[in-house]
Amino acid sequence: MLKNLFSPIEIGRVRISNRLVVPAMVMNYCHRDGTATEKYVAYHEAKARGGWGLIITEDYAVDPKGKGFSNVPGLWNDTQVESHSKLARRIHDLGGKIFAQIYHAGRQTSRALIGDQPVAPSPIPCPRLQEIPHALRANEIREIVEEFGDCALRARKAGFDGIEIHGAHGYLIAQFMSPYSNKRIDDYGGNLLNRMRFPLEIVSNVRSKAGSDFPVLFRISGDEMVPGGRTIEDTKTMAAMLEEAGVDALHISAGVYGSAYAITPPAAIRHGWIVHFAEEVKKVVDIPVITVGRINDPFLAETIIAGKKADLVAMGRASLADPELPKKAAAGRFADINYCIGCLQGCIGMISRSLPATCLVNPTLGKEKELRTKPADLKKKVFIAGAGPAGMEAAMVAAKRGHEVHLFEKADRLGGQFYTASIPPSKGEIAGFIVWQRKQLEENHVSVYLNNKLTEEIVNEQKPDVVVLATGSAPVSPNLPGVKRANVVTAHEVLEGKTDVGRRVAVIGGGMVGSETANHLANHGKEVSIIEMLPEIATDVNARSKPFLLKDLTEHSVRLYLNSTVKEVLADGLRIEKEGREEEIGPFDTVILAVGLEPCNELRSKLEGKVSRLITIGDAVSPRKALEAIAEGYLAGLEV
Ligand code: SF4
Repeated sequence: MLKNLFSPIEIGRVRISNRLVVPAMVMNYCHRDGTATEKYVAYHEAKARGGWGLIITEDYAVDPKGKGFSNVPGLWNDTQVESHSKLARRIHDLGGKIFAQIYHAGRQTSRALIGDQPVAPSPIPCPRLQEIPHALRANEIREIVEEFGDCALRARKAGFDGIEIHGAHGYLIAQFMSPYSNKRIDDYGGNLLNRMRFPLEIVSNVRSKAGSDFPVLFRISGDEMVPGGRTIEDTKTMAAMLEEAGVDALHISAGVYGSAYAITPPAAIRHGWIVHFAEEVKKVVDIPVITVGRINDPFLAETIIAGKKADLVAMGRASLADPELPKKAAAGRFADINYCIGCLQGCIGMISRSLPATCLVNPTLGKEKELRTKPADLKKKVFIAGAGPAGMEAAMVAAKRGHEVHLFEKADRLGGQFYTASIPPSKGEIAGFIVWQRKQLEENHVSVYLNNKLTEEIVNEQKPDVVVLATGSAPVSPNLPGVKRANVVTAHEVLEGKTDVGRRVAVIGGGMVGSETANHLANHGKEVSIIEMLPEIATDVNARSKPFLLKDLTEHSVRLYLNSTVKEVLADGLRIEKEGREEEIGPFDTVILAVGLEPCNELRSKLEGKVSRLITIGDAVSPRKALEAIAEGYLAGLEV
């Protein structure tokens, strides 16, 4: 099994033990001066221990004014080398191979971050960051070319096994390569050869300074996915030129900031969606080609390699979700793999707020040292109320530490509202995490009692040492005339298949739950309207996923009543108020409530003072995202 995936390959002079690659991902774990922290090193060590063939670090800025994020690494001066040599040394001690990605953000940064005007080939703002950049003069271009070479040499001195030049995702090199952002009329603009001048000069400078034997990867977007951007045909030509220039391998991604969904695709995008770009590039080069793009499964990776569509497979978020994926896959322990579910809550969700990356399914990400599960000094009897993701996480961790854990769930299944969240289109992978948690509970001998609500009486009688309340939340019922009518139901009842829904449906509340429930029903043939108080819907859906949700709603003719407040549920419709005017809308066969959640924690007051340790976690504290609930569950498991 997976014999292609676990066969070695060479990139330049470096032998890589298998075809699984950790691609560069911004984590925000470094010091602001670009030096490495212990957190940054420990994060990479987890990958090396997990058996990834090649680890590519996040982007080392070649110049402080080329930074695109606050706490990313840098090798723009010699004083930074020592802190990063510690990283390379510790990865080598674990038998790993590590390349440093080097880059310059160009116009895809801000004055607030770098303290100066961003630079670019032409004075055209990045469509996302909207700052007019300074158009580089020829002498300034030559200085940056030198900076790339200097940075590559520092990477070599620091002990990295090679470098990856970041020519993808719309950063400075990509800006020069594309007619989308390069409108120059000198020798660096216009035709393809001129647009390749900057990257080819960089490759040459890197080679002359870091040595012709120092492996060089080049990352490029196969297609920029913006009007006027590069296409795969341009990329193939450029790939051949880069091979000719001495690049040792190519890494084919997609997108620029104007098509950010392509850089970090949300769950609405299918797995392996850009493998065909690597396949096309492979037709014109003889050096190894890496593919990437929402690949989270070793079987898919094996199929790609076996089909000769790429030589190596980069799995970014899959490596955040489970740094041990290669080791588990190699041992055939597939049920133990904690798969990335494409939620973007912890990774992109945090990075977009300039915070350190976390992961919804892996609370230890970035806290590899602090959150180690050490055996408990004293074995305790732990009762956990609620088998949603927070309760299951707490149970798993507590049991791993050697406690006797009993998990009570009033419903007839595991997963709580996280299971409900898996029902709408594009959300099905959520169920995979519940499956993984269930397996962990079984392996760690947690006693699970379904259809069993934990009560004060059970606690009084059985006297646990610790009680963890993970009782979640319940839908709010608004104080609205007509809300008790027989055709009024909650979004949760609908998603769980507990109620029939008529053909004509009104969803009250256009947040994530309401919008996704509407989309689910519209995809199942219902005529759906959403009534939302705000001027837009889905304000709590992440920015990468939202355009896909809105597009799906539009394609299914879902009608939106924005800036609208429901005043009354009528026999066959709704009375709403919009901009001071009331009107009746309908007819509707079913009215669905999606107006928020409230904590379920009535057991807390009954148990306070009666057990030696009472911990409340997740939505039972206050309704939030699963990211917070699962992290709190993990911590509770460590605390008991
Ligand atoms: Fe994957 Fe979600 Fe974790 Fe990001 S936060 S790595 S998308 S599971």
